[in-house]
Amino acid sequence: MITLKTPEEIGIMAEGGRILGDVLRELKIAARAGVATKELDAVAYKAILRAGAKPAFLHYRPAGAAHGYPATLCASVNDVVVHGVPSGYLLQDGDVLKLDCGVRHKGFFLDAALTVGIGSVSGQAKKLMTAAETALTAGIKEAQPGKTLGDIGFAVARIAKKNGFSVVDGLTGHGIGRALHEDPYVCNFGVRGAGELLREGMVIAIEPMFAAGAGAIRELKDGSYAARDGSLTAHFEHTVAITENGPRILTE
Ligand code: MG
Ligand code: MG
Repeated sequence: MITLKTPEEIGIMAEGGRILGDVLRELKIAARAGVATKELDAVAYKAILRAGAKPAFLHYRPAGAAHGYPATLCASVNDVVVHGVPSGYLLQDGDVLKLDCGVRHKGFFLDAALTVGIGSVSGQAKKLMTAAETALTAGIKEAQPGKTLGDIGFAVARIAKKNGFSVVDGLTGHGIGRALHEDPYVCNFGVRGAGELLREGMVIAIEPMFAAGAGAIRELKDGSYAARDGSLTAHFEHTVAITENGPRILTE
């Protein structure tokens, strides 16, 4: 069931989104060669608490999972797409790091992610990151009343195809609000004009995930998902409200 949010609720979500945007900016600066991903997790945890919000991912346990998530941040390196658990791994020059974080603010969840290159990355890595970020912008542009989820998915997949990349299989964006994951699923592929009609008051996390190789994934021991062929991946995400004036990015 899709839960629509009032303008007041969207206003509260925008407050939380500003906090999350600041946290991600801080993480982007802190992510350098020689830094352990668990150090970045500590940066995220402290920054969220300092801002008066709560980490959304810490102890989060999706239906069917045996354990809650052990960290504030997902830090996924190179072929790992999402859910990388921060560890003692020291970032290296050339790594492609995905930073995915969430906060809870006044009862509402916000979710956002970005990909950063550590030091000097390959031309292919740059192209992949640019494509995924461009796809997020293109997807957001479709997030308007009267358009559909298929329009968003189509716009995202088109950018992947145009650049010779794949949309990662089996992982999607989602509705978000009083729960971190709400209906509907927001797919990174679709048919123009098909699927759920977008309505004022819907709030969704749009999150293109691209792979340089094929899109197939496998689950690793820590519960993260990596490209099965070991190819590089990129991920960008914003929480976006659909308003009468068009898309409103809440996590900028
Ligand atoms: Mg996320
Ligand atoms: Mg998400």
